[in-house]
Amino acid sequence: MNAEIIAVGSELLLGQITNTNARFLSQHLAEIGVNIYYHTVVGDNGERLEDAVKLAKQRADLIIFSGGLGPTKDDLTKETIAHLIGTTLEYNEDALQSIEAYFTKTGRVMTENNKKQALVIKDSIVLTNDNGMAPGMFAKADGTYYMLLPGPPREMQPMFLNYGRPEILKTMEKVERIESRVLRFFGIGESTLETEIDDILMKQTNPTIAPLAGDGEVILRITAKHESPEEAYRLIQQAEDEILERVGTFFYGYEETTIAAELAAKLKEKQVTIAAAESLTGGLFLGELTGIPGTSAFVKGGIVCYTNEVKEQILQVKKETLATHGAVSAECAKELAENVRKLCGSQIGISFTGVAGPDALEGHEPGTVFLAIASKGKETIIHPLKMAGSRTGIRKRTVKYGCHYLLQMID
Ligand code: ATP
Repeated sequence: MNAEIIAVGSELLLGQITNTNARFLSQHLAEIGVNIYYHTVVGDNGERLEDAVKLAKQRADLIIFSGGLGPTKDDLTKETIAHLIGTTLEYNEDALQSIEAYFTKTGRVMTENNKKQALVIKDSIVLTNDNGMAPGMFAKADGTYYMLLPGPPREMQPMFLNYGRPEILKTMEKVERIESRVLRFFGIGESTLETEIDDILMKQTNPTIAPLAGDGEVILRITAKHESPEEAYRLIQQAEDEILERVGTFFYGYEETTIAAELAAKLKEKQVTIAAAESLTGGLFLGELTGIPGTSAFVKGGIVCYTNEVKEQILQVKKETLATHGAVSAECAKELAENVRKLCGSQIGISFTGVAGPDALEGHEPGTVFLAIASKGKETIIHPLKMAGSRTGIRKRTVKYGCHYLLQMID
């Protein structure tokens, strides 16, 4: 079944409210295997609403409306639909009674226009509003289903879940489940990752694989459709295994996790302690890590060593290192990582030094970064990086690189 959501309301077009109803409905429709190909927003205008419905009718089996069921003149969803499908509105006794009961209960006088809310499309299935006055409707005409829901989310959501969704399910012969899984990657560009798995992407039908890039990361959403959720999961797992065989080194986690959260979990699991010397990142790395609950077990501490004096006097970077190689150098990064580890008494020391921009520093272009990782009893590893982007972007990505290299290193 293909559906389209039409949210009615000028407030939406004016940017005064966000169309959270479309999001809610899309999420719940996807769960029962209804495809949503379009979201439409239209103002409180009969003509334009009519145009939107005519267009939706050509491409959807089910059109769901939210909003415009209220008592005022600009609420015209049901009138428009009734007109379009060649029928009329009639009073619904139950709705009328519940509106009257509502006014009696609240001690208010019912105005005539409130009665309008009890008007429903003739021969439609009425969807009870347990949290307000305007009932919803479910109608069928010319092979198209129409579901009308009220605008306020606190009325629309329970109405959809309790009365609307069951009606949709009844009309679907078999319920195809849509299940999806998100895989997160760091350290590989979107185009490189896509090239690596190009043939897998080309042959996809079920499951489908959608790549998304952002913030130095690549996200793959694998989506499978099947009547049985177990079979959908099996299809997803199969695709995941195939993908990870190629680009597994860059994979760090599922769904809504972050690379810092994965690092925190790994440090905790492996009982590894860490300290950081942060020049370029100014505390961002430890800020990220300590933002995750339970980090006191493995974060020993750190030093923000923004100036050369702090690098030299507190972190004991050699004078000649700074004089010969500068603060933005592999040598400086190495000493920072080794010394912060010793000073804080941790198993691992990590350092970040570089140029965030916008100006060059010590003759280095913005985006020049040296990241070093010192581990007890092991050779210090230095990662020189070259990054493009804004100052904020460079600093944030440097932190992610730190997490990435640590995750790869700790076993
Ligand atoms: P009412 O009976 O309250 O008039 P209605 O069905 O006529 O409801 P609207 O008048 O269109 O609905 O909207 C009422 C309120 O519902 C809006 O002011 C807004 O707070 C909320 N609302 C409407 N549409 C949406 C939407 N698409 N997403 C989120 N909230 C919405």
